[in-house]
Order: sequence, then C-alpha cells, then structure tokens
Amino acid sequence: MYKLFLLVGCLIVTGRATAFKADYLVLSWTAQSGLVAEYHAVVDLPIDFKNKASAVPSDNVQLLASDGILIDEVSLKNQLITRAEYHGHEQLDGQLLLNEEIVFVVRAPRGMVKQLSLPISVDKNQTRFDFSNLVRNARYKAVLPTQPAAGNPDNRVNLLVMGDGYTANQENDFNADVDSIIAYMQTFEPYQSYSEFISFDRQFTASNQPGADKPAACFGNDAVTVDTAFDASYCIASIRRLLTVNSSKIYTAAAASPDWNEIIVIVNDTEYGGSGGSFSTFSTHASANDIFIHEYGHSFTDLADEYDSAYPGFPACSDINGPSCEANVTDETNRNNIKWSHLIEPSTPVPTPETSQYNTVIGLFEGARYQELGRYRPKNFCNMRSLSYDFCAVCQAAYVFKLYQVPYAQGSPLSLLEPGTASPADTTPTTMVAVPMTFSVDTLQPSHHLDVSWWVNGVQQTSNSDGQISQSFVFQPNQVGQQNIKIKVQDHSPMVHSSRQAELPEFEFQWQLNVVPFNDLIFADDFEQLP
Ligand SMILES: [Zn+2]
Repeated sequence: MYKLFLLVGCLIVTGRATAFKADYLVLSWTAQSGLVAEYHAVVDLPIDFKNKASAVPSDNVQLLASDGILIDEVSLKNQLITRAEYHGHEQLDGQLLLNEEIVFVVRAPRGMVKQLSLPISVDKNQTRFDFSNLVRNARYKAVLPTQPAAGNPDNRVNLLVMGDGYTANQENDFNADVDSIIAYMQTFEPYQSYSEFISFDRQFTASNQPGADKPAACFGNDAVTVDTAFDASYCIASIRRLLTVNSSKIYTAAAASPDWNEIIVIVNDTEYGGSGGSFSTFSTHASANDIFIHEYGHSFTDLADEYDSAYPGFPACSDINGPSCEANVTDETNRNNIKWSHLIEPSTPVPTPETSQYNTVIGLFEGARYQELGRYRPKNFCNMRSLSYDFCAVCQAAYVFKLYQVPYAQGSPLSLLEPGTASPADTTPTTMVAVPMTFSVDTLQPSHHLDVSWWVNGVQQTSNSDGQISQSFVFQPNQVGQQNIKIKVQDHSPMVHSSRQAELPEFEFQWQLNVVPFNDLIFADDFEQLP
C-alpha cells in the first residue's frame, strides 16, 4: 500500500490550538564534536502533542519523556545532504553533497522532553542525551518577546522567507523580492490552487554589506568577500553555482518566527546560484527561483529526483522489497502494481518509450532517482527532472495528500474547517420551532469547490459540491428537543484521481441544538416583562 494513501478517516475540529511556552533549540552534529547546542530560546508555539507511544529505534531525532515515551520525532532527511541542482539541458544538473555538519531545530513544550536521541544513521546506538543539559549548555541563549500571529497560524503551512546580503537600507528590495517569489510560486500547480493553505511569513535581517562571497577558486580575479548576516557564499565545494548560507545562524534567527514549517532564503546577488537541503537558498538571478520550486518538491512533498545522473551511495529504494520509493519513483514494472497505475491509459505501453508521442501522458519511463536503469518515473518530463517543466499529475496528487498529512512541526493538524469560525460559536445553542436558524463554518479554500454536506441527527439533509458552508434549518413542533446538526467537508481535489479522492480526510463540526416550543423561548427571554 502506497504510504501517502493511508491517511483515511474523519478529523473532528475542536477549536483553536492554544499557545504553549516551548523550547526552541538549534543543534549541530559533527563526527569530531558530536552533538552541540548552538542556541536556545523560549518561544510561544501552538503545540499540541497527542500521540504518545513507546520509542522504537528510528531514523529520526527522537524526543522522549523520562519513561522512554516518544513525544515527537524530527526528520533530518533534508539536513543530511546539500542539493546542488541547476538548469541543465534536458535534465537537471544535479549533484548531492553529504553534509559534514548536520544542523537542525527541535521545538517542544517546556518541561515535557527529558531526553533526545539522534537518528540511527547518525548514531547507531541512539544514545540518549539529557535535554535539560542541552538547553543549559547552549552557546547562545535568548528569551524572545512573543508576538501572537494574525489569523489561524496553526492552521497553515508556515513558509518563512528570509534574506541575506541585504543592507539596512535595502529592506524594500527584500520585500519586493519576497513578493516576487510568492507570485512566482503561485504560477505553479499545485501551489497555485492551494495558495490559501500557505502562510507566507517574512523576516528581514540587515547585513553590513550587500551580496554574497565569491571565492577565488571559482571566480578568479572577480572574487569578493562580503560581510553578511548569514555568510552567504557561492562556490561551495568548488561548484560555482552552489550557493549556501550558514544553517545554524538561519535557524537561530528564525526563532523570532518560531512556528515556521519551511524556510527559504533569498540571497541579494544577481549571480545565478542556489541550493536545497535544510532549506532552499537562491539568488536574485531571474532563473534562480526555479531552484526553489523544485526544492520545495523535495523538502515539503518528499518527492524524489527524476533525473538519472549517477549519485553513487544514495540510499536505495524499492516498492517491491522496501524501503518504499518516494511517491514519484518506482521499480515496479508490473502494470497492475504500479502505484500510479490508475493514471496510466490502457493504450500506453509499460515501460513507456521516451518518444514525443508519450510526452503528455502518465506512463512508466525508465530513468529516475540517479539511476538510468531499474528506476522509473511517471512522466517523461516533470519538474522533478527538469526545471523547465510543470509538476506531473503524480507529483501534484502527492502534494495534496501531503497538505492533509499531519502533524506539522507544531503537532497541530491542518483542517479544512477554520478553527474558531463556527457560527453559532456556542455548540449547544437554543432555537424556537418555526424560526430559521443558520449554521456556518469558514473553510480553508482551494481554488476549486469543496464537497459539503449537512446532517441532522445522522440523516443527510444536503449534499453539494459548490462549497456552500452556510445552511439554515427550520424545525417543526414535533422536533422539539435535542437535534444534532453536523457539517462534513471533504476536498475531492481535481488533482487527485477520482478513484483516490475518498482517501482524502473528511472534516466535520457539530452542534447539539436545543429546539424549544415557540412560547417557551419568549418567556425565557422575559418577553412579558418588557414595557
Ligand atoms: Zn531535485
């Protein structure tokens, strides 16, 4: 079973998550120095950790209570490698570099975490570190003023845009560059249709000098060294276009917006360059933001690269023997067992020839995930293979499932029903016979309509696909008493094949309505005492 499709069931909206005092800890690990706490701050976060279980060895950072109960896990898959990927001719020019220093952030409710262990791939013994010692020994500490964010920040993917190489008087340039990357992202599907699901936050940090370092190893006589807030530099590992910033400094500064889910960094330099990994970094060169569109496919949607330039040593995957491949790559060649078989027309051969006849269809194209043979991609050209293309239907559907896959960093589920917007707000309201009563809940709105149904006492009253989220009911004298009113909402996304839409989660909200006879409410309101 394809893992993204396991999220089935009904999620009930309970209300707005409240903010908790949380530890925000930036940690680094190298083979030489081991685990080092770089920075600690106390922040306000809408954290809501519910799922607790005994810890079993895993390839994540584990946060544990003193009794060995697992509180949360932090994946480091994006922290282990730096992705040097650029516009190539037919495919991406891709190169992956193993990071010698792994930098990551842990966010947890204060006092709850007692121990921390590293992923098996980093520490095969999963040694447990005392969490309060890490906090106590952090090299830098801060207690930040807390700023309650607008809206329902806990019900969005929080994408934090930061900048490097902008001087104090270039804040307007930074804001214009942020506006342009947001606008650019929204020209790409699936990001465009689900733009309301993303909260774009921005944080300006002034640098002493503009631009980025250009070491002589790549730039010769044009080499420059500049003093910037986050040490932006091209020519990492002697690759001219590989542009990175200091991860530890970025994560430390990001503590001022601690509820981020993804971070992107714009470097104020027109030289083409960028990188992916812990976060996406790219320059202000006109084509560099294409790198971000692709890297977000890795970091948020967990998509694999579909190009075939060799990267020896990259962990293998197999949908037949495990561990499973990412949503957009497979080694399965039996048509019926291919995880995107529902998207392959009977007339499309499997494997599918790389000829122009099949450029627009989903099939099984050989060559993906750094292998020319034995690994297959769904479409001949997709953004995960070449920056000049859109995302294919398989990648788009994976994004939609990922949006609804919970929890995010703060442990709060993203809900189609906006927390705190139910009307009436009182979930046990009273109404009179024969008087219309209107119920509504605001929804998180993709560009298409949501499927909405209204129920009274478990009996469906309405079903519509026009996203109607407000409904009036009138009750008869024989309905005096308790009435259960329920709204159910589901996203039958056009980006998900009809055979899989039912696997998207359904969200509901309900009221226990007390229907009283006409006269009762008048007397209850002291009507007879009015002058
Ligand atoms: Zn890639």
